[in-house]
Amino acid sequence: MSEYQIINPATGEHIAAVAATTLPEADAAIARAHGAFGTWRHVSPGDRARLLRRFATLVDSHVEELAQLEVANAGHTIGNARWEAGNVRDVLHYYAGAPERLFGRQIPVPGGLDVTFAEPLGVVGVIVPWNFPMPVAAWGFAPALAAGNTVVLKPAEWTPLTALRLAELALEAGLPEGVFTVLPGDGPVIGQRFVTHPLVRKICFTGSTRVGKQIMAGCADQVKRVTLELGGKNANIIFADSDLAKAAATAPYAVFDNAGQDCCARSRILVQASVYDEFMAHFETAVRGVKVLDPTDPASEVGPLVSAAHHERVSSYVAQSKVAFQGSVPDGPGFWFPPTVLETAGPSDVAWREEVFGPVVSVLPFADEAEAVALANDTEYGLAGSIWTRDVGRALRVARAVDAGNLSVNSHSSVRYWTPFGGAKQSGFGRELGPDALAAFTDVKNVFISTEES
Ligand code: NDP
Repeated sequence: MSEYQIINPATGEHIAAVAATTLPEADAAIARAHGAFGTWRHVSPGDRARLLRRFATLVDSHVEELAQLEVANAGHTIGNARWEAGNVRDVLHYYAGAPERLFGRQIPVPGGLDVTFAEPLGVVGVIVPWNFPMPVAAWGFAPALAAGNTVVLKPAEWTPLTALRLAELALEAGLPEGVFTVLPGDGPVIGQRFVTHPLVRKICFTGSTRVGKQIMAGCADQVKRVTLELGGKNANIIFADSDLAKAAATAPYAVFDNAGQDCCARSRILVQASVYDEFMAHFETAVRGVKVLDPTDPASEVGPLVSAAHHERVSSYVAQSKVAFQGSVPDGPGFWFPPTVLETAGPSDVAWREEVFGPVVSVLPFADEAEAVALANDTEYGLAGSIWTRDVGRALRVARAVDAGNLSVNSHSSVRYWTPFGGAKQSGFGRELGPDALAAFTDVKNVFISTEES
């Protein structure tokens, strides 16, 4: 049996070995999940809600344990990891409110009664990346379970520990065996099996655009439903009339948070030319002040990259570019990378165009609103972005013109569990979180009952 060796990214130390699921084991788990669907879909809405609330409460009492596990496994700062575990709890509580509120409609028709039902789909395969192992898992499994589906979930090879712990908590909460199963394994083997297995009725995938395209093509064969949350190359657009000091002070965190391993990272900064120099002076001070520290230290703002292989990938982007200035990293072992600002020659620079997925940012000036929008949209991605201006009309015009799923004005916030989240263009389709996510885990069934006398 093959095993994954789990390494602490901050120290390079080996912390665990996790057995990789084999194909026969995955098939058996999918069959169990299909069997459990027959029961779970008929559990009364009130009981399903109670079980999900109990799961949420158990997560709440294990926030610290889950957070410490994520710090050790993924190198997340303890502050971020606590937020992430708390987000799982909140998402579970939010969707625990759904089973009793998921209902169909009655549509007036002659000669009878027409009603619709929100039917669960069956077994849902959730495939999770390594950058936010807990929240991204919960954004898939919580609404799927609330709507009456069962879930098989594949965490990323590098970061399976918190997902495995969440599966234990689900069982402890009383979710029946087979309703929520975590299967660590190779993407092209186990993830792919979710795609090809006829009993898996939907894939909920978060990851790279490259793999997302393969999944979508694979799903076509069985006309399998699919939700894709993919990469981003998000613009942070700063107009001359904005609160420049605030825009510059927050810009480092909008891209370097989670060491830049964030699909919503604002990794392209666009600054109006008339305030470019002033912005860069404030920005450099802010970047040099970012606290890249041991992630167990509560003062740490940025931790290490997730793995040696990913460190190599980020380094190769920086090696192809010219560095304008950088922050600092701690001495010693671990996959540390300093917050890095690149000199950007123009929009054809490789680091301007491609998702680096590390603490690396490019900055370009723009002349006017039209050029800012054109530059922001000059990418295959369309996930998120920020707009800094005091002109409310301009804020709305630009927000409507930028082709992305999640935009913030005078803020960098992209995620609230009760509002929809997802991408445009090659950042994917379908929406997670908020009320819209539930529709993606149900099918509408229409039933007509004749009232004619026989
Ligand atoms: P990958 O696409 O490489 O992997 C994502 C998941 O898919 C992993 O569990 C991986 O398994 C699995 N996988 C890999 N190949 C296949 C395959 N052929 N069939 C089925 N599953 C497969 O992405 P990363 O893990 O590198 O994650 C980073 C990416 O995720 C970034 O592009 C980022 O932008 C995106 N992302 C998007 C978010 C969004 O909401 N839009 C949120 C977070 C991240 P394994 O671990 O074995 O490789």
